[in-house]
Amino acid sequence: MKRPILIHPDPRLKKVCAPLGDLSDELRVLADDMLETMYDAPGIGLAAPQIGVLDRLIVMDCVKGENETPRPLVMFNPEIVASSDVMNVYEEGCLSIPEEYAEVKRPEAVDVRWIDRDGNEQTETFDGLWATCVQHEIDHLNGKLFIDYLGPMKRQMITRRMQKLKREQAKARA
Ligand SMILES: [Zn+2]
Repeated sequence: MKRPILIHPDPRLKKVCAPLGDLSDELRVLADDMLETMYDAPGIGLAAPQIGVLDRLIVMDCVKGENETPRPLVMFNPEIVASSDVMNVYEEGCLSIPEEYAEVKRPEAVDVRWIDRDGNEQTETFDGLWATCVQHEIDHLNGKLFIDYLGPMKRQMITRRMQKLKREQAKARA
């Protein structure tokens, strides 16, 4: 089932999410809903707080080519255990900040540990777009958005545009 995506600014996007205990069918359904919501958007990553659930859960799939096999990843309690010294700059966007893009500098590669959909612990090194995406999504679990890496002027400008967008959406629904 598709879930509505929260748009910045929203207090739920600024919260530090709680670690998850044992996996349940309910959590697996939540992960599947998040993947469906992400693919539909379309996006390459989604974090639980973006649909208003304050759990440490992210999903992503950075496979882009139409002829390539999708690689949906579900990560419960994802954690960055090592980061490269080499940095990389990517133009980032966010499903909670639609139509806004900005360059963000992050480590070029990261080792991530997480619990997968079957409850198994996984560790993998990500680089390139995958590394940027997983860092962006884990930031969401700590209440951090990509615009928090920008200067205050730029951040305020984007936030004001989002406030306007939300007013227009509210009006359209009324
Ligand atoms: Zn995002």
